[in-house]
Amino acid sequence: MARIDLVDLAHSYGGNGAAPESFALKPVTMTWRQGGAYALLGPSGCGKTTLLNVISGIITPSRGKIMFDGVDITPLSTQKRNIAQVFQFPVIYDTMTVGQNLAFPLKNRGVPKAEIDRRVAEIGRLLDLEPYLNRKATRLTADAKQKISLGRGLVRSDVAAVLFDEPLTVIDPELKWQLRSKLKALHRELDLTMIYVTHDQTEALTFADTVVVMHDGRVVQSGTPAELFDKPAHTFVGYFIGSPGMNILPAEVRGREARLDGHVIALNRSYDNLPAGAKIEIGVRPEFVEVVTPAPGLLTAKIERIDDLGRIRFARARLGDAKLAARAPGGFTSPDGTAGLKFDPSHVHVYADSLLVEGA
Ligand code: ATP
Repeated sequence: MARIDLVDLAHSYGGNGAAPESFALKPVTMTWRQGGAYALLGPSGCGKTTLLNVISGIITPSRGKIMFDGVDITPLSTQKRNIAQVFQFPVIYDTMTVGQNLAFPLKNRGVPKAEIDRRVAEIGRLLDLEPYLNRKATRLTADAKQKISLGRGLVRSDVAAVLFDEPLTVIDPELKWQLRSKLKALHRELDLTMIYVTHDQTEALTFADTVVVMHDGRVVQSGTPAELFDKPAHTFVGYFIGSPGMNILPAEVRGREARLDGHVIALNRSYDNLPAGAKIEIGVRPEFVEVVTPAPGLLTAKIERIDDLGRIRFARARLGDAKLAARAPGGFTSPDGTAGLKFDPSHVHVYADSLLVEGA
């Protein structure tokens, strides 16, 4: 396994001369730690696959370089990059047995037979494929075939990294749950650098130690699941991660106060140097706003509905033109359809042109 450095890496399908805003992958410089479990998360079209394909060598980047352990591997072909890949759909040989399929990447590299047998047995055990090792792959279900693909991706211990591109897409929902946690356990056991592409936040947050969030071709934040939740660096991260996502509300911010709809929300930090002319918003997760009986000094929202999620209830409300979600305590009712809003100041963030501003 290797440390991977992306250095001013960018890609445009229209060539290097294309307008910077049209690049599918906008310039990114970052390091992927040796042995780390990374998820590359973002909505369809945000550039995840482009970045993954640039790392794997399927695409030659328009700009920048990729280093494995300090060595520039940008000119190398996929085959020479020493990586393993697992795709959305099973890539296996139907005519071979499950065991032969798992052994293939090792045989191809001239690994001694005893070592092949040991690794195939280990991966077979880890993925619960032991009973099928001698069966022809052709007779298996799509789920089992994709498990073999995962096994083939994980069987080599000498790869720089294992790249997964939405590997659980074809898997039955019940098994998906099991495989998600299994992959996490496999990462701990096998100690490989893994990069996992998905648009599904649950999948990303379950699997990864570090989640890299992409939006519109840009890496907008890279952090632990807790960091993304507690301190989204970009309004997009706040909104995309969490269910419901973060409330983003236009506000006027001065010092330790945000003004919204003529009311004041206290802030934990002071904001005296906001960039002039920037669009200022506050961001607060629904978990940290509470609906209460309306009272003087509190913002009043119009309640549209209450979603009861079992362990927690969220009120969906309107505040002027803005929509908002807020925690509704057990006994909360709203006979006249309105509610006061109580914000937890330690969880109210300030954004200028969508980027988090650190207060003083
Ligand atoms: P998805 O989850 O749908 O695969 P993604 O986040 O992986 O999306 P990419 O496939 O990397 O996103 O696409 C990023 C952008 O590049 C999109 O606007 C897409 O239309 C464009 N794009 C992708 N492949 C090509 C290509 N071969 N030629 C031209 N444009 C492309």
